[in-house]
Amino acid sequence: MSQFDYDLITIGAGSGGVRASRMAAQTGARVAIVEESRVGGTCVLRGCVPKKLLVYAGHFADDFEDSQGYGWTLPKPSFDWAKLIAAKDKELDRLNSIYQRILRDNNVDLLNGRGVIVDKNTVQVAGKNYNAKHILVAVGGWPSMPDVPGIEHVISSNEALNLRVLPKKIIIVGAGYIAVEFAGIFQSLGVDVTLVLRADKILRGFDEDVRVCLAAEMRKRGITLKAESVVHSIEKRNDSYSMSLVGGDVLDADQVMYATGRKPNTTGLGLKEIGVEINQDGAIVVDEYSETCVGGVWAVGDVTDRSNLTPVAIAEGAAFVQTVFNDNPTKVDYDNIPSAVFSSPPIGTVGLSEEQARAQYKDVDVYVSSFRPMKHTISGRDEQTFMKLVVDQKTDVVVGCHMMGLDAPEIVQGLGIALKCGATKLQFDATVGIHPSAAEEFVTMSEKRLC
Ligand code: NDP
Repeated sequence: MSQFDYDLITIGAGSGGVRASRMAAQTGARVAIVEESRVGGTCVLRGCVPKKLLVYAGHFADDFEDSQGYGWTLPKPSFDWAKLIAAKDKELDRLNSIYQRILRDNNVDLLNGRGVIVDKNTVQVAGKNYNAKHILVAVGGWPSMPDVPGIEHVISSNEALNLRVLPKKIIIVGAGYIAVEFAGIFQSLGVDVTLVLRADKILRGFDEDVRVCLAAEMRKRGITLKAESVVHSIEKRNDSYSMSLVGGDVLDADQVMYATGRKPNTTGLGLKEIGVEINQDGAIVVDEYSETCVGGVWAVGDVTDRSNLTPVAIAEGAAFVQTVFNDNPTKVDYDNIPSAVFSSPPIGTVGLSEEQARAQYKDVDVYVSSFRPMKHTISGRDEQTFMKLVVDQKTDVVVGCHMMGLDAPEIVQGLGIALKCGATKLQFDATVGIHPSAAEEFVTMSEKRLC
């Protein structure tokens, strides 16, 4: 009999933690998972899932409008935010109970409360100590906000998903995934949206063309982009807020949201005390197998700030189980991870941006296509689709694939497989398209862009 209560104690029951715990238990390990809130984590409770449900809600507004070009006449649709939030909450309750059932069915003990690491084999939960051979930290991240006068008045995406009343006018600060996605959600539901960004463009790190194209579409939809703007202060005035920008401009809104990045949840966990290395951004430093510098203490997901995406946390959790419980040391491959921004219209991307490819390869060929999607020829909506392939000229391998437009995330997921397999442009060209579709454009791009 082992000297420990458990073989594994996982702290944090989000995507990475639950996957690792379940898979470890399936190998016969005795596993407990500690959670101070509800089971599900950021993705299920405060991120991907509720966000996507709200994105769907917004799509209906487009569909009602677009249907008129196709001969439909509708009574003026009305929208009930409270009903949407209630339906969303019901779905989250359902997912929460599925997660609980997964843990139960796999004999993973759920320890309710905040877990604090006492030593490399001991976790304290609700005043009681539990020990384990391995500890896995999977506590995720939390919205981070700059220290601006009046910051106490603003909301983050956590609260935006649960507002009692839909604002009439909102200012969103930031220009990353969350800011851009929520700008689209609120605008499509009829809110007057202003995005305040300190840089000259949205979505730093994405392909430049994609950044420019999405900004143009956001403006067409009526979203105001205030670029190169730094917030000086925020004041509350009765039921509204006044935001002063450096330089003197003043903006008013009845809600202010900050989406200025997320920070790993590492404070107060006892990590530093046992010698776990934390970097300057507050993330746990791990090796390629997700082990910290303290043997037997591991970390996966956003708390390690590697690639902060749910499927990556899940892959890291699964690799951890292979390494520790299946005697099969496994690293996650971080190349060609596809991702999407559920903006309006959405973005799908995999591989290198043109800028990254030019920095990495001597000669790069670029193929682009921009067109009005077939659906909008009749709907009349003034919206473009943009597609781009980035190719290493020497090997003909497609090293980047980017799309902004209807169904981009669905299309680019499939192309992620092609890039993962190292497909060449010649192989893209030899693939027969599906007609009529937007996706077929990816296998028919023939003109190199002249740089
Ligand atoms: P991001 O890191 O994507 O973007 C942060 C944004 O905030 C940037 O535009 C940045 O500007 C800006 N910013 C940072 N600090 C300040 C400041 N002090 N003042 C003004 N602006 C500031 O963070 P998000 O919060 O949007 O998302 C967090 C992470 O969550 C993402 O990185 C992603 O990994 C994940 N996520 C993924 C989604 C998906 O897969 N669809 C959806 C949502 C989140 P600048 O560019 O100038 O640095």
